[in-house]
Amino acid sequence: MISKERILDLLSAYDTENLCLATVCSHTSLQIFHGAKAEGLRTIGLITSEQQRAIYDAFPAAKPDEFVDVGDGAIPYEELADKNALLIPHGSIVEYAGRGLEDAPLPVLGNRQSLMWERDRRKMFEWMKAAGLQTPAILDPDKIDRPCVVKHPGAKGGRGYAIVHSPEEFHAKFENKDVMVQEYLVGVRAYPHYFYSPLSKEGYRTADGHLELLSIDRRFESNVDESYRTMMAGVPIRPSFTVVGNQGLVIRESLLSDMLSMGRDAAEAAERLFGGIPGPFCLELICDENLQFYCFEISARIVAGTNIYPEGSPYSCYVFGEPMSMGRRIAREVKTAKEMGKLGKIVY
Ligand code: AMP
Repeated sequence: MISKERILDLLSAYDTENLCLATVCSHTSLQIFHGAKAEGLRTIGLITSEQQRAIYDAFPAAKPDEFVDVGDGAIPYEELADKNALLIPHGSIVEYAGRGLEDAPLPVLGNRQSLMWERDRRKMFEWMKAAGLQTPAILDPDKIDRPCVVKHPGAKGGRGYAIVHSPEEFHAKFENKDVMVQEYLVGVRAYPHYFYSPLSKEGYRTADGHLELLSIDRRFESNVDESYRTMMAGVPIRPSFTVVGNQGLVIRESLLSDMLSMGRDAAEAAERLFGGIPGPFCLELICDENLQFYCFEISARIVAGTNIYPEGSPYSCYVFGEPMSMGRRIAREVKTAKEMGKLGKIVY
């Protein structure tokens, strides 16, 4: 992985009066560009096909100031550095750039080490445990004694997951496959969207900064989330968990205290384990009938569920007295860090 010193070195050559935010035109890019505009920052959209431009003709208020066509090649990090760009990572960049992101000679918003901890499911569980979060049991395939979800490495968006109930069923389907077997959690899903800032300790304090809860979503997954229809129609299905979209959620106000403390504990554990997680992140939670939260995944970057709230959410309005999306919050942090002379604290 490229060293932080090298990134700080690159940053020191930037004309910070002309900073811009760059990201791949997918995932949460509409929100990122829209939010950057609201904060007066320039934007660059990286496109991999010409068709992507048409999306921004349809949504001109979220059109980047400039497009850079990367075709099917690598992201042109040097060219972006020449344009004083900070890369905003999202789910599609993590997929597209893969491990290349680790060595990318370009300041990336947040801490690129966190993306490594997110990619490796075992490390992710180490992080969740270090944060003291309750997690689903991870089972040895030969000891499967309850319904379990089987996950492939790196599989994102739930595609290809399967449910197994016994060692026999597991071996019949997954013999010699590199998979993780997790206890199937029963309850209500809730995916809180946090923003962690090391720039001030005002608000909900953590050891080294403060945490904001900007919004919460729930995903809509095919076919499991429509299974009541198929059941009523008498059509038998094998449940699948492919994420198709997102829905907004507010939780019982009495659960907010748990929501906040889980976010704080995850941010503080990140600080201890790999130097922190400035910027957006999300915990994927299931709340059971006893109102206990279990965390089965952490996303160490902006998540697509934030797209529900381009003008703010039922939580962000209590943090900011103005419309604040996660995209805009990112741009605001970049501006604040620039004014404080602390950009080096929020990029790696
Ligand atoms: P993930 O790729 O981990 O985000 O999971 C995709 C979807 O699979 C989630 O949104 C959940 O609906 C479901 N899922 C994942 N892990 C579990 C689990 N341990 N128990 C129940 N459902 C799960």
